[in-house]
Amino acid sequence: MASLKSHLKNNLEILKTTQLKSMTPNKSYKTISVAKGDGIGPEIMDAVLKILKAAEARLNYEEIEIGEKVYLSGNTSGISKEAWNTIRKNKIFLKAPITTPQGGGYKSLNVTLRKTLGLYANIRPCKSYHPFIDTKHQEMDVTIIRENEEDLYAGIEHRQTDEVVQCLKLISRPGCEKIVRYAFEYARMYGKKKVSCFVKDNIMKHTDGLFHEVFKEIAVEYPEIESDNWIIDIAAARLADTPEMFEVIVTPNLYGDVVSDIAAQISGSVGLAGSANIGSTCAMFEAIHGSAPPIAGKNVANPSGLLMGAVMMLNHLGQQDVAEKIKNAWAVAIEDGIHTEDIYKEGVSKKKVSTSQFAEAVIARLGKLPQLIKAEKYDTGIQMNIPEYKRKSKSEKVLKGVDIFVDWNGENVNDLAEQLQKLNNGIELTMITNRGVKVWPEGFEETFCTDHWRCRYEVVEERQAEKKFIPMIMTKAIDQHIDIIKSENLYEFDGKRGYSLGQGQ
Ligand code: NAD
Repeated sequence: MASLKSHLKNNLEILKTTQLKSMTPNKSYKTISVAKGDGIGPEIMDAVLKILKAAEARLNYEEIEIGEKVYLSGNTSGISKEAWNTIRKNKIFLKAPITTPQGGGYKSLNVTLRKTLGLYANIRPCKSYHPFIDTKHQEMDVTIIRENEEDLYAGIEHRQTDEVVQCLKLISRPGCEKIVRYAFEYARMYGKKKVSCFVKDNIMKHTDGLFHEVFKEIAVEYPEIESDNWIIDIAAARLADTPEMFEVIVTPNLYGDVVSDIAAQISGSVGLAGSANIGSTCAMFEAIHGSAPPIAGKNVANPSGLLMGAVMMLNHLGQQDVAEKIKNAWAVAIEDGIHTEDIYKEGVSKKKVSTSQFAEAVIARLGKLPQLIKAEKYDTGIQMNIPEYKRKSKSEKVLKGVDIFVDWNGENVNDLAEQLQKLNNGIELTMITNRGVKVWPEGFEETFCTDHWRCRYEVVEERQAEKKFIPMIMTKAIDQHIDIIKSENLYEFDGKRGYSLGQGQ
């Protein structure tokens, strides 16, 4: 899969490229891993496998067990070592939704799979099929490209005081570069005219700010593609109201999770959209929805989401001929009004069918072309190339102070400040915040305070703080029975502040 190729674009030399998608029709058979999952998973997977077989997909299947049964057997990861080995050997994985048991602290296996296998790009096309599927949005054709490895999904959470818990939001430059580049390459490959970035960098200036900054940097390398940036709240509102404004959306993990469910639902049903999770060596394909326990075992679920995931997989494997055959047969079934319960509408649909009947209807139409829904052409003749991340030269990193977080349940912040000022030692207490809001000096009595205080020590006259002052302050604080819960160093990088100010500072 890996092809080394240099290409120059706007004077930027991209050194090593990884071809993520085979464009040469691949006539050989490929063994893939398959997991039938939980809830509606087995029903929709059986329907999809039947269609793949009837369409003569050049695939062999190796089934693995993951999810609820594995969790409940006492394996808290939800996956056995043998299943990992199979997934890593085959590299391509078709996965039905799984249930993460509530309580018991089980980690989501979906997130673990995506991150462990380095599947950094989550591609979720959401399209409306007016007039065949009832939708408020007749012109919608949006692809959400969700960052898949970072953000709040790092899952690093801590309880720090009686009253406060925290979750770390981690965003990295390589993570941003890979996903933003993927979005522009995807747009180029599929002839999309615009890429929109959704972030909240008016509030999270450093994390979402980095995502936006990288988006601007990479956008200039694609002058033929329009680019725009949106604040996530209004962007989500516009997406729900006028989705035809957007073509390709690139966004961090959490926002991508939320907006792709919105986009799939408003296109007609959350049961319609498929999803590809792409990494540089492995890829996993699934539906965007979950295991839908309330309708499990009833043979009513829509298998289309998982089928669209399988179509993306065939496309990825170079079996565009089979991908097109299945997508077109599916479109004919939809045009014929053969609909599962979730999209069935009196006056629009012709026949309400079960999961298995829908699969039969698609199989019966293999080889036919839709009349009004545009017939798919997956082989665009354009290759997608993502360069390997190239680390930039190191910045000049200057220590300017430290934020020390304290668990304290006193009433008057001046008492805390008085104790903390006694610790001044080469760096001085300059500010105390509570949940990010400045409460000392000159706080407002109206501000509600918890037992979680950020106490900022900074260099006052010197350009640079000495690192040894930090443990010295902390040792003194411990001696004075101040309950320190954590610290964060304050750095400047190449003269640019690498930490946020207090709100109200
Ligand atoms: P969900 O997507 O499973 O279901 C929400 C509702 O959407 C269902 O009750 C159903 O009414 C409808 N729906 C979903 N898929 C459908 C389909 N194919 N056909 C018809 N209707 C469909 O979301 P949830 O209820 O929040 O999650 C249930 C479980 O799924 C949880 O354990 C969650 O962790 C898991 N989950 C798994 C994945 C995955 O495996 N990739 C993704 C999301 C949620």
